[in-house]
Amino acid sequence: MAKYKAKKTKRTVRHREVQRYKDKAELIELIELRQAILRRDNYTCCRCGLVHRYPYKRARVHHILNWSSCIEGRKDPYNLVVFCLRDHSLFHKRYGMTNNTREQLEEFILSYKPWIKSS
Ligand SMILES: [Zn+2]
Ligand SMILES: [Zn+2]
Repeated sequence: MAKYKAKKTKRTVRHREVQRYKDKAELIELIELRQAILRRDNYTCCRCGLVHRYPYKRARVHHILNWSSCIEGRKDPYNLVVFCLRDHSLFHKRYGMTNNTREQLEEFILSYKPWIKSS
């Protein structure tokens, strides 16, 4: 079930993201959308409740139906949630980077056990 991928650096992901947006206007639109989602969810991780007001840059906006599999969900606010850095990388370590679903997100949120630090 769980897919474990070789560790990729954040730099690789960001680089890929910049390549996706050769069109600068679209990149700006994405950044604004992220800011709107962060405000909507009050900079709070949907799994552990960590609030990221300072520095909010460490918060991650996650696509519930992931980017490559769900074109129409790319800019849909209902498809976006806020994660902390740790839970975001944990999610993708557990479920991979493709074919992500809402069920995975629900399962992931329910699996949060604050009394076990490493989960
Ligand atoms: Zn979290
Ligand atoms: Zn994600």
